[in-house]
Amino acid sequence: MIRQDAHRIDPKRRAVIDHKKRQFAAPAYKQQDYPFRLNLYETPPTAEITLEQFEQWAIDRLKILAEIEACSYRNKTPAETAAQITPLLQKFLPLSSNTSSPNGAADQRLKNERQKDHYSHFILRLAFSATEDLRRRFARAETMLFRFRFQQDDSKERRAFIDGLSLDWEPVGEEEKNEVAESLAGATPGLRRVDEETWYKVDWEKVPELVERRSVFLKKGKAYVPGREQLSMIIAEFTARLERALDLTSRALPRLDEDDRLTPILNHLSKNFGSAESVYSESEGYVDGAPITAASIDQLSQHFPLCMRSLHTNLRKNNHLKHFGRLQYTLFLKGIGLSLEECILFWRQSFKGFTDDEFNSRYKYNIRHAYGDVGGDVNRRGRGYPPYSCQKILGDSNPGVGQSHGCPYRHYSVDNLVGLLQSTGVHDKEVLRGVREDVGKTRYHIACNRVFEWAHKNEIKKVKEDGTWSAADLDTIVHPNTYFKRSYLLKQLAQAPRDA
Ligand code: SF4
Repeated sequence: MIRQDAHRIDPKRRAVIDHKKRQFAAPAYKQQDYPFRLNLYETPPTAEITLEQFEQWAIDRLKILAEIEACSYRNKTPAETAAQITPLLQKFLPLSSNTSSPNGAADQRLKNERQKDHYSHFILRLAFSATEDLRRRFARAETMLFRFRFQQDDSKERRAFIDGLSLDWEPVGEEEKNEVAESLAGATPGLRRVDEETWYKVDWEKVPELVERRSVFLKKGKAYVPGREQLSMIIAEFTARLERALDLTSRALPRLDEDDRLTPILNHLSKNFGSAESVYSESEGYVDGAPITAASIDQLSQHFPLCMRSLHTNLRKNNHLKHFGRLQYTLFLKGIGLSLEECILFWRQSFKGFTDDEFNSRYKYNIRHAYGDVGGDVNRRGRGYPPYSCQKILGDSNPGVGQSHGCPYRHYSVDNLVGLLQSTGVHDKEVLRGVREDVGKTRYHIACNRVFEWAHKNEIKKVKEDGTWSAADLDTIVHPNTYFKRSYLLKQLAQAPRDA
């Protein structure tokens, strides 16, 4: 897909490939013309794309899947999830129907959208096929995305898409329908008249949702499904095909190990599932016009996420922070827009028990280094290091004794975490119960988002009601600097007079 020769196998090696693996030895490439918006992703991409497109398209899709997964973890209703992901899809992965253009599927814009959708799916399939857990999460998020798009699709186009699939659904003939009419009526809830429906016979394993709900008639291993349950059948088909494909991909993965262009990108992508940190840009934490100075940090700390708030509290309590805590906090402060001079002043004033000489010789260099004022590689000169994302903080090893860096949701015991939250004013029993549950399921950033939403519920309600912010402005937070900026802006907007 990047360049076809990247996947080509030495002919001598190909000759000794085990017959069971032969299915991977000679992939059957097919030209894609994308007649429909929807895709079951049966055929791998074949055209060449650049490495930049390879990575960017995958990152864009990852942003959507991460948000879908976060919505499901946060128990959002289908309507809330739709409101959340629609603008993101529009921005990162638009997919228009044929009727949106006078030229239909021949329109180049539609082709480009569909190509990006197709390729990004396959790139992430490669990235997320390595472990069982990633495969499961990927299949789940992709299925939810497919379901959403299927439901949004133009009904004529959807019909044509389904007709174009060779699905193993056997239409039930009139005679048989009359024979089993009573059983169909008894087993199918909400049915008005058996003869008004089109019925299909499918293997019962293909419609687990319907079987589980006991809303389908079963006979000799076949489920008799009414046409209106097509969504269930298509979704089950999509999931089953994807799971099979992921399984096959995972077995083919070792071949890619030798490709030193793709492997690092794929590894990076797979580490970011759930946080999509790659979409954070370093300027995102700045708030234009906000008074960010050494003197304002105490006041601003009410907007900090728990990780930074805990560092700030410890700094004020001990007049000192150990190295990793200082680094995490310095980069965060840099990210919110604190200048280097103000940052040095902030640390100097905070480290009360030290003389100027001690401070300058022991601590000042590291602050300048974090800002890129000294040292570092040429690429980082003048910029320093980016503020840590949640993914980075959550993935770092546990802080040792006396250290206070890290993420409290991940690195504190649950009881200590709850105590810390209570000390910051979070007393709502339902929120604390939710946090315990999230943390128990290792969904740390979801717990953090839960607290954010609770702490800003009035402001969120206001900006949603007056239309100041869209659902996309309130997507899942995966970066401490986003937490700060959103909290700060929400409070400002809430305080602004209505007619301002
Ligand atoms: Fe900080 Fe992220 Fe942890 Fe929240 S989830 S406390 S922002 S590291």
